[in-house]
Amino acid sequence: MKLRGKPEPLLIRGGRVIDPAQGIDAEMDVLLADGVVSQLGHGLEADGARVFEARGLWVVPGLIDMHVHLREPGEEWKEDIASGTRAAAAGGFTTVVAMANTRPPVDDASMVNSILARAAEKAVVHVLPVGAVTRGLEGKELAEMGDMAEAGAVAFSDDGHPIADAEVMRCALEYGCVFGKPIIDHCQEPSLTRDAVMHLGYWSTVLGLRGMPAAAEEIMVARDIMLARLTGGRVHIAHASTRGTVDLLRGARAEGLPVTAEVTPTHLCLTDRLVHDTWYDTNTKVNPPLRAAEDVEALRRALAEGVIEAIATDHAPHHLDDKDVEYNYAAFGISALETAVPLLLTELVHPGLIAPGTLIERLTAGPARILGLGAGSLPVGRQPAAGSAPVVAGCRRVGAGSLRVGGCADVTVIDPGLERTVDPERFYSKGRNTPLGGRKLRGWPVLTVVAGHVVMRDGEVLA
Ligand SMILES: [Zn+2]
Repeated sequence: MKLRGKPEPLLIRGGRVIDPAQGIDAEMDVLLADGVVSQLGHGLEADGARVFEARGLWVVPGLIDMHVHLREPGEEWKEDIASGTRAAAAGGFTTVVAMANTRPPVDDASMVNSILARAAEKAVVHVLPVGAVTRGLEGKELAEMGDMAEAGAVAFSDDGHPIADAEVMRCALEYGCVFGKPIIDHCQEPSLTRDAVMHLGYWSTVLGLRGMPAAAEEIMVARDIMLARLTGGRVHIAHASTRGTVDLLRGARAEGLPVTAEVTPTHLCLTDRLVHDTWYDTNTKVNPPLRAAEDVEALRRALAEGVIEAIATDHAPHHLDDKDVEYNYAAFGISALETAVPLLLTELVHPGLIAPGTLIERLTAGPARILGLGAGSLPVGRQPAAGSAPVVAGCRRVGAGSLRVGGCADVTVIDPGLERTVDPERFYSKGRNTPLGGRKLRGWPVLTVVAGHVVMRDGEVLA
């Protein structure tokens, strides 16, 4: 990260500390010093530290987004590491996991090193790279997963594409086991989704658009679960979106298989009806598509029960040119980092559908567990060469989804009552592609602290 030097001590006073990993939900002070959480308790002395008054606000472990497209290298007009990580900071995220489908893709150790080096120079939050499963994301030959794991890849994925070949997936899972890393799959049977642009259902019929059946996702999820059973490898289902997927996950979990899943705020809060209601707004075009109300219902239940353990945004910024075309030709994706928290609070927490502690767990400890960031582990396989180290003075770890004393001082403060209207023109992301523009949302992040450095305050990115 570009944050250098020793951060000033900071006392975050009197907030509602929600740290599910430690079972904490109570009014407390949090003292950050030397880049780590130094004390947690009541009536802590400022002792020369700057003070942030957090009464009435939530103080939570730095949010972790395990599915982000930063577009660098190769598509910097859509996003780059500087703009994407500033968008993350604005959205309350202190760690982002960067997908490998850049141009060229991250499919060998030198590319992993290059992402870490660029991040060391320009990122304002922690960036953890994902390595491709197959060379060139072509779905044929396995990439050098061992080298990439050693260089610091935290997981493997061809995301953007499914791993269509079952034998390739089987081998990937076997290697993944060896390195202890999950294989993240974008589950979609390609033959069922050719030229399709939205969910196959009532609204695709009404609108006359080609639909993707839920079965296209579920066939692949079922296959991956079977391959997890066969190999013992760890499968992580990216952006789960259908009721059938939830049923399959529930079965896998009951069986004790090493299968985890994430869901996006988009799929938790919006339905395919929005394509109709916005009259073919291409900002509603996303892959997997916005699904039916019954799917959204099932996803919410799965999130609450822990069948789905993580919320990830699948932040997919695009240029206006990619979206300002007919629905059939528009690119898939939503710029989501800066609206995730307020959307989730507005749609799920304030109406009482998800408890605050559960929501925060799925944004912190959940993804940390899936990525193996806990237990003080260094996410980077080993210390990279000087100059390329994603290391901040006094803090060589990411926050790992908890405010444990001694852990990296990654903290997010959320004002649950703050109301603001989404204005894509004010995004830090270069991608303004959101269907939420003009929507009034309640519950925004107001402070983002990365390794003790304040990188966002009151919505303004300072780094
Ligand atoms: Zn995907």
